[in-house]
Amino acid sequence: MLICIDAGHYLGTPGKRCLKSIDPLETREWTLNGRVADKVQALLKNYICTTMRVDDVTGGREITLYERVAAANRAKAELYLSIHHNAGIGGGSGGGIVVYVCPGADQTSRQVQQAIYQHTVAKTGLQGNRSNPTPEGDLYVLRETAMPAVLGEFGFMDSTTDTPIILTEAYAQGIAEGIVEALVERYQLREVETVTYEQWKAFMTRYQQEQAQLAPSAWAEMGLAQAKARGITDGTRPQSKATRQEVALMINAAIK
Ligand SMILES: [Zn+2]
Repeated sequence: MLICIDAGHYLGTPGKRCLKSIDPLETREWTLNGRVADKVQALLKNYICTTMRVDDVTGGREITLYERVAAANRAKAELYLSIHHNAGIGGGSGGGIVVYVCPGADQTSRQVQQAIYQHTVAKTGLQGNRSNPTPEGDLYVLRETAMPAVLGEFGFMDSTTDTPIILTEAYAQGIAEGIVEALVERYQLREVETVTYEQWKAFMTRYQQEQAQLAPSAWAEMGLAQAKARGITDGTRPQSKATRQEVALMINAAIK
């Protein structure tokens, strides 16, 4: 399962930034998008799936929508996930989360749209007058991608209610966790199982015990019997590995 992650825009995109009267630093939209994208990627490392970024992860280079979509199509990704933050409130209050699919979108896109909307709202509590669970948008990255695709606008950069919240690390983490919960749910992603050193040693011990109980292979039976008769080996554990000290004793016995 390959998931393409697209943090919208880049640092230099004109106009795509928080409203100065609310955020004096005028945080760029790419910074917010990239932060969520990084967190989504980090969280997905715990699951059996692969992610691929189609933006420039440093935010320094503009990558066109054409290039982003072409990369996803070439890689035959199974989902295109575009991460954005919204504008259009002009310093007023209100806002919320909006997740788009293309008009006429397939069933999978709509299921992912629903799941991401529900889980991100549940995680962050961001609900506003612009929140909309099932919007359609004729957007380039949704229209031109050859796979299911969604585009999330995770709060408004020019809203007195949304902006102070979307700037926080905790909010970005909540959005990322909500997105990942949605993907795990929709695609039944399985967690990566990590094996500790102690577990590995226990597995190896069990494996060695199993090997030690195996009978000799038919092709080795005669040679093993002869070596045993000559005192080169005691003939036990024929399928086990020999240690260096065992090999030394066997060579010594053979020379005698
Ligand atoms: Zn955007």
